[in-house]
Amino acid sequence: MGLEYKAKYAFEEANKKEKKEIFAFSEDYKAFLNYAVTERRCVKLGVRLAEKNGFKPFDSFKALKPGDKVYSVNRDKNLVLAVIGRKKIADGVNMIGAHIDSPRLDLKPMPLYEDSKIAYLKTHYYGGIKKYQWLTIPLALYGKIVKKDGEVDVETDGEDFALVISDLLPHLAGEQMKKSMSEGVEGEQLNLIAGSMTESGEDSLKENILKILNEKYGITEEDFISSELEAVPAIKARDVGFDRSIVGGYGQDDRVCAYTAMRAIFDCNAVPDVTAMCVWADKEEIGSMGNTGMQSKFTENFIAEMIALQEKNYNDLMLRRAMSASYCISADVAAAYDPSFPSPYEKTNSAYLGRGVVMEKYVGARGKSGSNDASAELMGKIRKMLDDSKVVWQFGELGKVDGGGGGTVSQYVANLNCNVIDSGVALLSMHSPFELASKGDIYYAYKGYREFYNKFD
Ligand code: MN
Ligand code: MN
Repeated sequence: MGLEYKAKYAFEEANKKEKKEIFAFSEDYKAFLNYAVTERRCVKLGVRLAEKNGFKPFDSFKALKPGDKVYSVNRDKNLVLAVIGRKKIADGVNMIGAHIDSPRLDLKPMPLYEDSKIAYLKTHYYGGIKKYQWLTIPLALYGKIVKKDGEVDVETDGEDFALVISDLLPHLAGEQMKKSMSEGVEGEQLNLIAGSMTESGEDSLKENILKILNEKYGITEEDFISSELEAVPAIKARDVGFDRSIVGGYGQDDRVCAYTAMRAIFDCNAVPDVTAMCVWADKEEIGSMGNTGMQSKFTENFIAEMIALQEKNYNDLMLRRAMSASYCISADVAAAYDPSFPSPYEKTNSAYLGRGVVMEKYVGARGKSGSNDASAELMGKIRKMLDDSKVVWQFGELGKVDGGGGGTVSQYVANLNCNVIDSGVALLSMHSPFELASKGDIYYAYKGYREFYNKFD
C-alpha cells in the first residue's frame, strides 16, 4: 500500500494562502510578459526590477561581502544577478539559467518592397516555428536601428496599428491545402504588410513608407542594414479558462522561467549560504551561439570577476574549482501532454499541465543526443529538497522515444564541469504565438527555484 508513485496537482496541494499567492503571482507575471517581448526589453525591465529590489551594478563594487546584491548586463541582451552568500564564491555558486529570446520574425537587412500597391517588409524567422501560425494575426515590431549618427528604438506595440501577414482565402487554397503543413506556407511568404497608400501619382508606395519612417525615426532605407527589428505577436497575455487557471501569452518559452528565476533571487534569503546567481541568456532558440548565448564566456567571466573581488591572489584554478563545485538549474520549459494531440507523447513519462514544476533528467533527441542527462545523485538530491520544501513537482521527458526532441542551455553549463539539471514549466502550444502555462506550475517553479537558492548546498 502506498508504494505506487502518485502524481500531485498544484492547485490541489496548495493551501488557501498559497492559492492566493498563485493568482497574485501570475498577475505580476502577465505584466512582465506584456512588456518583455524581446530580449532587449527583458533586460531593460529586469534591470529596473533588480534595482528596485536593491541590486547594484557590479562595476560599483570594490569588494564583495555576504548579502551584497549585484547585477551585470552584457550587450543589452544578457542579465546576471547575484546575491553573495556566506561561503566564498570560490567554493561554488547556485545558479539558475533561463533564456530570454523567443521564436519570432526578424526583418531582413533590406526588408522593404512593394508589389501591386501593397508595401511589405521581408522577414527571416528566428527559432523553430510552425509558419502557418504567424499568418493573419496582428504583429508588433520592436527593436533598434543604428544610424551613422545615432540610434533609434522602434516600439510599435501593435495596438495603435499592427503589421500582418496575409493568407489565401479557403476558396482558392485548394492547392495550398494539399501540401504538407510544413510546406503550405514558405519562409519567403512571411512578408509583413506595411502599407497601401500613395497620395499623388509622383511617389512610389515604397517611397511613401520610407518618408513616414524618415519622419518618425530619421532613417533612410540603408539604415535597415544596421538594425535589429523583431516582429512579435501583438497579443496581450491574459487568463485562459472559466476558472482563470491558465496564463496564455507570447514568449513564455522561456520568459516564464526567466521571470520565476528572477523573482526567486529577489525573494531568497538575505544572506544565502551559497552565492545565488540568476542568468538570463540570449540565442538559445538558435543554438546558444554568439557572444550573448550561453556558449559565450559571459557567465564564466562574471563568476571569475566575482571571485577576484573576494580573493587577494586570484588565479584561474579558483574559477575552475568553483565551477566544479557549483550547481545549476537549466530553467527551460517542458512540453506538456496535449490530450487533443496525444500521439507524440508517452503518457507515463510525460510532463502535464498543472502538476507543478517539471524536473527533467534529460531532454535531447533519438538516443538522448544533445542532452545533459543529470546524474541519479543530483536527481535524488533535488527531489528530496523539493519534497522537504513542499514544492509541487513532476518529472517528464520530451515526447516518445524517437518522436522528435530538443535541447536547452544545460549542456553548455555542464561543460564548465558544473552539476546541472533541467527544470521548468510545462507548456501547451510551445513556440506558438500564444503559449499556455498553468498558474499553479508557474508558482511552484518560482517556489522551487527560491528553495534551491535557500537550501541547496
Ligand atoms: Mn526554451
Ligand atoms: Mn524553445
